[in-house]
Amino acid sequence: MSSNLRSVQGEYDWVDTLGDFFASPPDDVPAEVLEAFAVIFNHDRILPPQIFYEVVEQSSIAISITDNQAGILYVNRAFQNLTGYCSNELRGKNQSILSCEATPKAVYQDLWTSILSAKEWNGMLVNKRKDGSHYLAEVTVAPVYRKRVEAEYFLGMQRDVTALHNLKNKVHNQKALIESVVDHTPMVIALLDMDGKVVLDNRAYKTLMADLGGREPAELILKDIRNLVGEDFETACTREYSIEHHEVSLVQEPGPEPRWFSCSASWIKEFDLRAESYFESHRQSGLLLVANEITRQKREQEHARISAAQALTMEQSATLNMRETLSGAIFKMQEPLNMIEAAVEILKRQEPEQAYLCSTLKQALDAGHQAAQTLRASIPTEVSEVIGPVNMNDVVRDVLNVMAPRLLAEGVVVDCRHLESLPSIAGQAGKLRALVKYLLDNAIDALREPGNRQREFMIITRNDNDERIELCIQDMGVGLARELRFKVFEPFFSNWNARRGHSGMGLTMAQQIAVEYGGDIEVDTEYRNGCRIRVSIPLNIGK
Ligand code: FAD
Repeated sequence: MSSNLRSVQGEYDWVDTLGDFFASPPDDVPAEVLEAFAVIFNHDRILPPQIFYEVVEQSSIAISITDNQAGILYVNRAFQNLTGYCSNELRGKNQSILSCEATPKAVYQDLWTSILSAKEWNGMLVNKRKDGSHYLAEVTVAPVYRKRVEAEYFLGMQRDVTALHNLKNKVHNQKALIESVVDHTPMVIALLDMDGKVVLDNRAYKTLMADLGGREPAELILKDIRNLVGEDFETACTREYSIEHHEVSLVQEPGPEPRWFSCSASWIKEFDLRAESYFESHRQSGLLLVANEITRQKREQEHARISAAQALTMEQSATLNMRETLSGAIFKMQEPLNMIEAAVEILKRQEPEQAYLCSTLKQALDAGHQAAQTLRASIPTEVSEVIGPVNMNDVVRDVLNVMAPRLLAEGVVVDCRHLESLPSIAGQAGKLRALVKYLLDNAIDALREPGNRQREFMIITRNDNDERIELCIQDMGVGLARELRFKVFEPFFSNWNARRGHSGMGLTMAQQIAVEYGGDIEVDTEYRNGCRIRVSIPLNIGK
C-alpha cells in the first residue's frame, strides 16, 4: 500500500487526473515511464491507485499523512470524524494541533526519537478535539520512504480508546474494591478449581492455614463436609448444588480444643476467555468455599448445655435419692408391720382373752399401714423428659462435668476411651446420665474403700457391630467377690466397708434403666484389678 499512497496527495481528483493523463499521454512522455505506469494501471494483479485511495478514505481507523515535520498533507474521513476538524482546516497544519498538556513531553520526545531513527512508534496520546474535548488515542506513527534514504513522509494511524480505557479502569477499580472487601472480611474465603486446587484466597484463609501448621483448610473442610454429607456430597458436586451451613471442626495442633466453622460451598461459573468461545460460550465451574468461625458461639452453647444438663442431673439425682430413701423406709417399715400382723393373728387364735392387746396391736398395725401409704404417696414422680437422639459419649462427658468437683476433691484420675463417631440411641438423656452417674459414684466409692491406694478408673464406649452401644466402666478399687455379681443388683444391698449413707439402690436403679432400654448390665468376673461393669444397649430397640 505504501508505494501507491506515497504518490497520493489526498486529492481524489488528482488520482482521476493521473488516470486520465495515462489514458491519453502526451507524445513526449518517455516510453519507459508509460511502460512502468501501464504495469501499475493495467496489470490485472495490481490494484489501481483509486482503490487504494478509497480503502484509506473509508477505513474506520483515523489516518493522517504528514511531511517530515508533521505538517498534515492528508487526513481520511475517520480522522475528521474523530477530531471534529474538516480536511481543509487540517491541511498544512502541524499534527500538534491535537496535542494536549495531559500528555507528558517525554512521550512526544520518545515518538520523535523513534520515527527519526526509522522506527515505528506505538503509544498512547491524550488528544484535544476541535471543540476542546479530550480523548485517549492509541497511535501508530510510521516513517514512509520514497528513495529509502530518509523519511519524507509520516503515516499516522489512531483510534479512540477512551471508552476501553474507562472500562478497564472501572474493572480494575471494582476488582480492587472486591479484593479489598474479601481480604478484610473476617470470613475464611477460598476459590477452588475443578481439581480442588485453591486458586484464590483471602487473608483470613491464609491466617487459618498458618494456625493449622500449613495444612490446607479447604481440604480439611471439604473432607469433613464429605464425611457429614456422605453420598450427597458427590451428587452436589456432579449437579453443582450448594452446600450450606455445615458445622465443621478443625483441630489446631497443638491446641486444647477444636475450632468450629459454619461452612458453605457454592459453585460459580467463570467465562471462558479463549477466542474460540466467542460465539459458543463455554463456562468453567469453580467452588467458592466460605467458612465463618463459630467457636465462641459453640463454646457458649456447650456451656449452656452443660449447665442445663448439670441442673437436670442435680434435680434428677435429688428426686431419685428421695425415691430411693422413701422406698427404703417403706421396705424397712414393712418388716415390723408384718411381725405385728402375725402377732395379731396368733393372739386372735390362741389367746382370745387378750382382746384389748389384740385391738391395740391392730390399731398400731393400721397406723403403720397408713404411715406406709402416706410415704408411698409422697414418693416424688420422675422428672419428665422428651425422647430424642442421645450420644453416649455426650452422656459420659456431661456426667463427668457434673462430677468434676467430686473427682477433683477425691483426686481421682479418669481415663476416657471414646469411639469418636458413636451412633446415637433414641432415649432420655437425663435417665441415661443417671445410669452413668450411679456407676461412676460406685467406682469412686470403690476407690475410696479403706486399704485401696489406686485412684483411677477407665470409661470405654464402643459400637458393637452397629447393633449395640457398649459402655464399660472399670475401676482399680477393692473389687467384688464372684458370688456377689448378681446380688449387687438386689435392692438395698450394700457391701461397702464404709457405707457413706448409701441405701444400696444405685445398681438396682441402673439395672432398671438399662432394662427399660432393652439392654443389660453385668459385672465382669474375669477382671481382676478391681471391678468392671458392662452396660449394653441395643441401637434400634432404644426407648
Ligand atoms: P512540540 O514542541 O511540537 O514537540 C514536543 C517535542 O517533540 C519536542 O521537544 C521535540 O523533542 C519533538 N519534536 C517535535 N517536532 C519535531 C520535529 N519535527 N523533529 C524532531 N523532534 C520533534 N501529536 C499529538 O499530540 N497527537 C497526535 O495525534 C499526533 N499524531 C502525529 C502523527 C504523525 C504522523 C506525526 C509525525 C506526529 C504526530 N504527533 C501527534 C506529534 C506532533 O507532531 C507533536 O510533536 C506533538 O503534538 C507535540 O506538540 P507540542 O506543540 O506540544 O510540542
